[in-house]
Amino acid sequence: MRNCQWCNQPFQTKVSYQIYCSPECRDDATKEKIADRYAITRRQKRQGKTRLCKSCKKQLSMYNDEPLCDKCLINPGDVSKALKEIKGIANGKPFEDQQ
Ligand SMILES: [Zn+2]
Ligand SMILES: [Zn+2]
Repeated sequence: MRNCQWCNQPFQTKVSYQIYCSPECRDDATKEKIADRYAITRRQKRQGKTRLCKSCKKQLSMYNDEPLCDKCLINPGDVSKALKEIKGIANGKPFEDQQ
């Protein structure tokens, strides 16, 4: 008896290397592994590029998916202008139209 590595259900196995209770669990686990690898690849691609905070121009961490640094993200008072610009990007409008 062992527990499935995906759904954690106990299951019987004849082969010692089986770690999932069913093909469905194995498939789901494989998909997640691929998604994980994709996220890592995306991060690695970012490593060469320098991204700067839209508000304070501080260099952004490669783990940061936002256009703002951690400080600006938690301090919205300082970044209202930057946030407006981001909204402009989201709406697909140039910044000049925002005034
Ligand atoms: Zn399972
Ligand atoms: Zn910042």
